[in-house]
Amino acid sequence: MGEINGMKIIVECECGNKIVVNPVTRGNVAYFSRDLRDHDFDLNSIEIETSLENDTVTDPDDVSTKLKEFRIDCKKCGEYIILDCNC
Ligand SMILES: [Zn+2]
Repeated sequence: MGEINGMKIIVECECGNKIVVNPVTRGNVAYFSRDLRDHDFDLNSIEIETSLENDTVTDPDDVSTKLKEFRIDCKKCGEYIILDCNC
């Protein structure tokens, strides 16, 4: 470790619980949810909005989903933050 200098995400609670989520490889996947759960955080309430273009769906492309928000809970003190991805 220490050789990866890509983007990282720091989640820090006021109780001192903290995690730095690093990508596994540079510019690549960070296992955000798994890393959070390994460090007394929890990822909750992933809200997916699904809209149907037509009443009867024959093409999977007619179904669009989007992430609206998610919430990170600190399991040590119960504090949380909601990240709104809708605006
Ligand atoms: Zn906390």
